[in-house]
Amino acid sequence: MENWQELEQKFYMRIINRLPVTLVRGKGARVWDTEGKEYLDFVAGSAVNSLGHCHPVVVKALTEQAKTLIHTSNLFYTIPQVQLAELLVENSCLDRVFFCNSGAEANEGAIKLARRYGKLHLRGAYEIITTRGSFHGRTLATVAATGQDKHQQPYIPLPDGFVQADYDDIEAIKVATSNRTCAVMVEPIQGEGGVNVPHDDYLKEVRAWCDDKGILFILDEIQTGIGRIGSLFGYEQYGVEPDILTLAKGLAGGVPIGALLAKERASVFVPGDHGSTFGGNPLVCAVGVATLKFIIDNDIPAKVKKMGQYFVAGLEKLKAKFSFITEIRGRGLLLALGLTDDIAQELVLACLKEGLLVNPVKPNALRFMPPLIITKEDVDEALGILEKVLARRK
Ligand SMILES: *Cc1c(COP(=O)(O)O)cnc(C)c1O
Repeated sequence: MENWQELEQKFYMRIINRLPVTLVRGKGARVWDTEGKEYLDFVAGSAVNSLGHCHPVVVKALTEQAKTLIHTSNLFYTIPQVQLAELLVENSCLDRVFFCNSGAEANEGAIKLARRYGKLHLRGAYEIITTRGSFHGRTLATVAATGQDKHQQPYIPLPDGFVQADYDDIEAIKVATSNRTCAVMVEPIQGEGGVNVPHDDYLKEVRAWCDDKGILFILDEIQTGIGRIGSLFGYEQYGVEPDILTLAKGLAGGVPIGALLAKERASVFVPGDHGSTFGGNPLVCAVGVATLKFIIDNDIPAKVKKMGQYFVAGLEKLKAKFSFITEIRGRGLLLALGLTDDIAQELVLACLKEGLLVNPVKPNALRFMPPLIITKEDVDEALGILEKVLARRK
């Protein structure tokens, strides 16, 4: 048999230290490797495979659209694009949509839109306030927006126009605001930063400050959106409406998509301002429509909320048992287990051996982001494996 891992070492750029597993097949919340070993997948493609692997609804939309029309230029109207835009607008507080191919690209669009708004309505203000510990993507502008040194240091000098404030601290945002500020951009819960949950009123405070100053409030819901934290959009749980919202990961059940949404008053692009060759093509949008419809029609967010509570109850039991667990963070099915020591990587490898995929979001924290359709039995199985693995550390 081919040694795929050796070939990867030879041919692929050295961008990541992968886990020693080559995955070849998936179904529901399970994946299988080249040896035929089965894993329960609590990574779900980094919160992407919202309906699990190869969900019939996703496969049907993908194959039918593949036989009908895969791609055209955005010079023409296409039907799935309009259908997905309508679904998003009808089910959110935003009025207009633009599709691209990834989360970073959605945030790039948000940054450009905020700058256009600043030129038009805020005497040329262009600075965007972001938060420490945030993650907004890997393009140069989104790296500049990302509040983590490790992502920024290798690429200095970075594009100008980003100011950082501590997360979950409205005073820090106030201090960072000047007459150059056009927007504040935050995640409802910081995902890649470690599943950091702000206090309940934080988003309301940010919204009120943005209203006060007449600046835009951008929510990056690339990870928290599309049911992940127990509501279709995270903002619904915090009693706020953003001016600009970005989505990606779970929106189209595994095919690459990003979406930039805005209120009418913030939708200031004019023809020629922005675009994408692949963005919003019929193939991905048809899958997006199928995925989003399934999530809405089956009230998956309510199920996520319940399953999240069930999972947290089980994690609480583990915390009571193992003194090196410091806390349980997150909402819905975006959860993390905080640890006293930097043992996340070794726990991930131990879980892998036992057939469970989890993510070391920080050296001292495990992140769980399973498919939104997992069952109690899946959660029980994951908790059983975790308990076994944690007990060996005692
Ligand atoms: C994953 C993520 C991004 C970047 O998305 P890509 O598709 O990897 O470009 C941006 N913001 C948040 C909050 C994310 O979780």
